[in-house]
Amino acid sequence: MADKRDYYEVLGVKKEADDDEIKKAYRSLAKKYHPDLHPGDSEAEAKFKELNEAYEVLSDKDKRARYDQFGFAGVDPNFGGGAGGGGAWSGGFGIEDLFENFGDFFSGGFGGGFGGRSSRRNPNAPRQGTDCEANVTISFEEAAKGCKKEVSYHRIENCPECGGNGAEKGTSPKTCPNCGGSGQVRINQRSPFGVIQSYTQCEHCHGTGKLIEKPCKNCDGKGRIRRIVNENIDILAGIDDDQILNVPGKGNAGANGGPNGDLHVYVTVRPHPIFERRGNDVWLNIPITFSQAALGADIEVPTLDGKVNFHIHEGTQPGDVFKIKGKGIPYINSRARGDQYVQVTVEVPKNLSKKQKELLTELDKSGDDKNYQKRKSFVSKLKEIFGE
Ligand SMILES: [Zn+2]
Ligand SMILES: [Zn+2]
Repeated sequence: MADKRDYYEVLGVKKEADDDEIKKAYRSLAKKYHPDLHPGDSEAEAKFKELNEAYEVLSDKDKRARYDQFGFAGVDPNFGGGAGGGGAWSGGFGIEDLFENFGDFFSGGFGGGFGGRSSRRNPNAPRQGTDCEANVTISFEEAAKGCKKEVSYHRIENCPECGGNGAEKGTSPKTCPNCGGSGQVRINQRSPFGVIQSYTQCEHCHGTGKLIEKPCKNCDGKGRIRRIVNENIDILAGIDDDQILNVPGKGNAGANGGPNGDLHVYVTVRPHPIFERRGNDVWLNIPITFSQAALGADIEVPTLDGKVNFHIHEGTQPGDVFKIKGKGIPYINSRARGDQYVQVTVEVPKNLSKKQKELLTELDKSGDDKNYQKRKSFVSKLKEIFGE
């Protein structure tokens, strides 16, 4: 297995980077290395997988803490269980496996195109499929309440015609007689130190260990097809814009009975015309009249649960903020919710009629310092500074 790169290095962030920086770094690199942009480029594929692995750990508080303390051993359940074993299924999931996985698809046969390694591996060992990506756009309310959404994406699946073995219906692949099904043959090379034994990919079966006489027409003998699929996914209440939902087992098919990869769904939440999300709180700006602010008023306030009655107290000032408890956005997988904050804008009346102007003038004449405390203190400060 190749030397693993430090997860922070993979994402190009500092050790003390906050969640936002990590998310930003991930998104920009994910765009750069996305498999759709580099068909057949196994280096980009490997980088993409490495990136996803790093993000999976660093975006999870617990996993990140364990990684910071113990390194890879803290986050990999297979660590130490045969690492370096050349990609055997039992020995952790390494970069090499990924090469092989992508090699499967892009070059046709299992393990095809990556010959020449001297390590032995079993071409029939199960390997996990790679992950898929999809996008979904939901409304503010859907994000707050949770919803079911259909997403559409490309997925590699086992060919339904041949069941994934690549042979035409009614026939089956034969074990390669040249390598006995191992996909590799032993070669002896003379050297000054004696005969060196090593393994190389079998030329007859291109490392697959099998020979297909009549290839399946549906998949051209590859055993796998790439098609557009639709999946209904549950979006949890409380999800935020830019979050990535992981749906286990909905990614590309594994090889030789290995498990499927996962599906990563990039969530975009449309902005709401009046509500604004801040963390799990909802903010709302409400314009009230000058008289409502001065006299106090009962007003209706829209919330995610519908309208609620709210009393604005006498003498409310522009910019005052009121809290309505528990009307915010739920925390994911929790019954707890944020709050709603209502900020008041006092609208100064325009286009006044003659009568209205008279009334206001009268009001103004009747006013004194008791009515305008801020003004009073401002005026007295002016006097202190500048004198009479
Ligand atoms: Zn087929
Ligand atoms: Zn062979």
